[in-house]
Amino acid sequence: MSDSWKPKTKLVHAGSRRSQYGEVSEAIFLTQGFVYDTAETAEARFDNLGKDEFIYARYGNPTVRMFEERIAALEGAEDAFATASGMAAVNGALFSALKAGDHVVSAKALFGSCLYIVENLLPRFGVEVTFVEGTDLMDWRAAIRPDTKLCFLEALSNPTLEVIDIAGVAEIAHENDALLVVDNVFATPIFQRSLALGADVVIYSATKHIDGHGRCLGGVVLGTQDFIRKTLEPYLKHTGGALSPFNAWVMLKGLETLDLRCHAQADSCLEIATALEGHAKLERTIYPGLTSHAQHALAAKQMDKAGTVLSLVLKGGQAGAFRFLNALGIILISNNLPNRW
Ligand SMILES: *Cc1c(COP(=O)(O)O)cnc(C)c1O
Repeated sequence: MSDSWKPKTKLVHAGSRRSQYGEVSEAIFLTQGFVYDTAETAEARFDNLGKDEFIYARYGNPTVRMFEERIAALEGAEDAFATASGMAAVNGALFSALKAGDHVVSAKALFGSCLYIVENLLPRFGVEVTFVEGTDLMDWRAAIRPDTKLCFLEALSNPTLEVIDIAGVAEIAHENDALLVVDNVFATPIFQRSLALGADVVIYSATKHIDGHGRCLGGVVLGTQDFIRKTLEPYLKHTGGALSPFNAWVMLKGLETLDLRCHAQADSCLEIATALEGHAKLERTIYPGLTSHAQHALAAKQMDKAGTVLSLVLKGGQAGAFRFLNALGIILISNNLPNRW
């Protein structure tokens, strides 16, 4: 791969490994284990002496590695580790980096399962958590302490679509030697490069835009080689959050069209949000691409486009919302992110 490749080129070609057959489409290495010519080779591989060789699919697999290298190339990350779901990625990044006695500062507006880990599980293992208003940098500054080990946030929150200033939080975290972990699912790797903005670790649920067709669960954690290999990998490879090779192949194919899909979805979102804003039956239309959004200027600064999701607050409470959902003609009533486009 060349560094001069454009993101769209990386999404198709980066990370490909061809077998001796020269296949066009990447092979699915549907294997748990690997064989060795001699006992000495086996021993050397287990001692990690061979470069880039595989020993067991919980640790790594060639198809999974292609997916990791392709998304790392897109994100500009030194390394990546793929996981069975987005939550396995969140769990892996947080639990591998933290220990009893550490302090965490987290944005309040979190996806339900992320909130469960931060609010319920971390304290159970002796990690103290302070929740802040993510959009308020003064709140982050007030909450951070000398023993703060990690800051956690969703760059664009699910489903309230709050936009958090990544560079601002990164500066506060780094002044205190804390790690900034960003769940970048809603912002997407196409519209927001959180590592370049100052995040240390970036997480994706590949289940969402990366698959993009509603087929498989998957996730990935990206960061420095040091974090991925020394902190994350020992935790994940022994606790079993590995991505299946078949799902990795689906995600690889998803990456090939990720840029096209995200741009088309964001363009549709802006068009729909603009058309619906001010409608008599709507309390609010929430989309960071609208000038009425509280963090519109920040979204315009740190994102190329304002994302692929818009939120509507309907008048008439639950009955109004249900009437609206039941009247939808083409849009599916579902709880997954964009899976038809
Ligand atoms: C969906 C989602 C996750 C979890 O991903 P799964 O693949 O469903 O485990 C984490 N964070 C955010 C923001 C999400 O939208």
